[in-house]
Amino acid sequence: MSGLMAGKRGLIMGVANDKSIAWGIAKVCRDQGADLAFTYQGDALKKRVEPLAESVGSEIVLPCDVTDAASMDAVFDELRARWGKLDFLLHAIAYADKSELKGRYVDTSPENFEMSMNISCYSFTALAQRAEKMMPDGGSLLTLTYYGAERVMPHYNVMGVAKAALEASVRYMAADLGKQGVRVNALSAGPIKTLAASGIGDFRYILKWNELNAPLRRNVSQEDVGKAGFYLLSDLSSGVTGECHHVDCGYHVVGMKAEDAPDI
Ligand code: NAD
Repeated sequence: MSGLMAGKRGLIMGVANDKSIAWGIAKVCRDQGADLAFTYQGDALKKRVEPLAESVGSEIVLPCDVTDAASMDAVFDELRARWGKLDFLLHAIAYADKSELKGRYVDTSPENFEMSMNISCYSFTALAQRAEKMMPDGGSLLTLTYYGAERVMPHYNVMGVAKAALEASVRYMAADLGKQGVRVNALSAGPIKTLAASGIGDFRYILKWNELNAPLRRNVSQEDVGKAGFYLLSDLSSGVTGECHHVDCGYHVVGMKAEDAPDI
């Protein structure tokens, strides 16, 4: 199957480099014929994102920091001027102070709590407010989440709380926007080594633990998540909204973890 996104236009937010989950999803959407626009956070990432965007024929590459409402407005003003309408939006953005992605959740500071919630949860709502105005014929909004929203994962801490709120916001926005044919979903990815993941304490241990205990006995790849992201952003998932779709080699269904796991 090819060309399933021909004629569709999508905004990809959250590419930091070629290891980013957003890049994995963007590549599959492009392979299926979508026209893509990208945002990058700050000048340091501009030089990484621009060549990637160029490699998939994208002519729209804009700065955007989701803590700055004016920068989000500017992105949508530009898209409206260039495209008029938007078919899909990918939100692959999260941030928490690294010093609190270890130790105890209970020690989270109010400043870090507020910032993590704003960047990792509220930004998806703020972007949906802007995107829906460009989706008169419906569309698809997708965010990235993690199992740490549902169960306690070591060191995930405030990010787990923010992801839980993000998943709830997906359900509320699905109900709000469904009437106009805008679908809202979350993809819960298994652990993948990316820039953001490197900030989480003992991440290598988490990767090994998942590999040993997931039903498929491996970790997910950027390609696994890319294909599932494409499904959720495209018409292949036309009847799906308010969903949190796990792409984690089945890890979330396992009740009892292996006792005979070798030393990890
Ligand atoms: P990444 O580092 O490649 O991407 C994170 C992105 O967030 C970066 O592009 C960064 O610029 C952006 N970002 C952070 N603060 C921002 C701000 N204020 N404004 C705009 N952009 C901002 O890492 P990734 O792992 O690809 O992360 C993408 C998403 O996937 C995140 O939501 C993450 O929580 C989620 N996720 C990751 C994993 C994993 O194991 N890597 C698993 C499940 C979910």
